[in-house]
Amino acid sequence: MFKQQLKKLDDQHLLRRLRTISSATGPTVLLDGREIILLSSNNYLGLATHPTVVNAAIEATHRYGAGSGAARLVCGTLTPHETLENTLARFKGTEAALTFAAGYLANISAIPALIGKDGLIFADRLCHASLVDGCRLSGATFRVYRHGDMNHLEQLLARRPAAQRTLIVTDGIFSMDGDIAPMKDMAHLAERYGAEIYVDDAHGTGILGRTGRGTLEHCEVESRVPYQMGTLSKAIGSAGGYLAGSATFITYLVNTCRGFIYTTATPPGIAAAATAAIQVIEQEPERRTRLWRNRERLAQGLTRLGFRLAASESPILPVIIGDPDRAMNLAQALLTEGVYAPAIRPPTVPPATSRIRLTITADHTDEQIDRALAALERAGRSLNLI
Ligand SMILES: *Cc1c(COP(=O)(O)O)cnc(C)c1O
Repeated sequence: MFKQQLKKLDDQHLLRRLRTISSATGPTVLLDGREIILLSSNNYLGLATHPTVVNAAIEATHRYGAGSGAARLVCGTLTPHETLENTLARFKGTEAALTFAAGYLANISAIPALIGKDGLIFADRLCHASLVDGCRLSGATFRVYRHGDMNHLEQLLARRPAAQRTLIVTDGIFSMDGDIAPMKDMAHLAERYGAEIYVDDAHGTGILGRTGRGTLEHCEVESRVPYQMGTLSKAIGSAGGYLAGSATFITYLVNTCRGFIYTTATPPGIAAAATAAIQVIEQEPERRTRLWRNRERLAQGLTRLGFRLAASESPILPVIIGDPDRAMNLAQALLTEGVYAPAIRPPTVPPATSRIRLTITADHTDEQIDRALAALERAGRSLNLI
C-alpha cells in the first residue's frame, strides 16, 4: 500500500524528499558538498546564526541542561521560559504570553481550547495547514471565505445565527503567497458582528511594523485582536510557537490547552535564544531595513526578468509556475545553477498553482542576490518560462 501510494505521488510529480544541508542555514548553505545560495529559509533577519542568539543558547544550555525534564506544569518551567514569556508579552504589547514547543502545536491546540462544537469559525481559504487542523480539531462549524475577501466574510457573518460564538482565523502574512491580511477591515467586521479574531503572525513577527512587532502593528490594529499567535522559528531564529493576549486568556490556556499541558517544555537553550533574538530585533532595526532593501532588489529583478510573481507584500516572493512537474524542473535547474529554492506543490498550495517560493533575508549580499537573479534568468530561459 505504501509503495503504491508513493508511486502514485511520484507519477503526479508530487513526491517529496528530504535533502540534507551540512551547514547553518545562512544566506548560503552546503548542499552535497557545494556552497549554494539559499533562497527558501524563513530566517528573515539572520538571527538563527546571530552570535548573541547562539551564545544565549549555549549559556542557558550549560546552566540549565539540554532538556527541560518534564511538561511545564510538572517541573518544566525554568527561568528561561518565564523570561521569554515576559519578553514576548512586552514585545507584543499584551498582558501575557505562553510558549509552545512548536507553532504547529500552538495552533492545533489553542484553537480547540478557545472554541468548541457550539462555535463557528470563519477562516481564510489560504490559512496555514496548522490553522486548518486546529479548526477541524475544535469540532466547531468551520467555513472558509475567499482569500482576503472581506465582502465574502461579511456575507458569512451576516447570515450566521446571531447567538453563535464566532472566531475569525487568518494568517498575518500568508506563508505561501506573501501577501498581508486586510486586518483593519477584518477588525471592523469583527466589531460590527460581534466576532473575535485569531491571527497567526508566524511570518510577520519581527519584520513588519515600525518596531517589528508584526502585522497588527503594521495595520494599526494591535488592541483590536484578542488572540495573537506566532512562531519563534522564523524571524526570531529559534524554535517554538506562542500565544499572546490578556492575562486571563493565557491562564485559561495554561489550564485547558492540551498542546501545552501534555508535552515537555522546550529546551532552555531554545527559550533563551528566542529571548535574545527579540532583544536583537529591538536593538538592531537596521536588520529590518536591510531585509526590505534586499526584498526590493530581488522583487524588482524578478519582475524585470518577466517572471510571474504572486501579489506579495513581504520577503516571501512566490514565482507561480502552475504544473508541479514544471515547478520541479525549475527547482532542479536552479539547483544546478547554485540556488536552492524547492518547488512548493499541492496540497501545500491549491492545484495548478505550483510555485517556487523564494524568500530573502537581511544577510544576503547584493552580489548574492545578483548571482541568484542571473541563475534564475538562465534557468527560466532554458525552460521557456520567461
Ligand atoms: C511555520 C508556520 C507555522 C508552524 O510553526 P512551526 O514553529 O514551524 O511549527 C504555523 N503557521 C504558519 C503561518 C507558519 O508559516
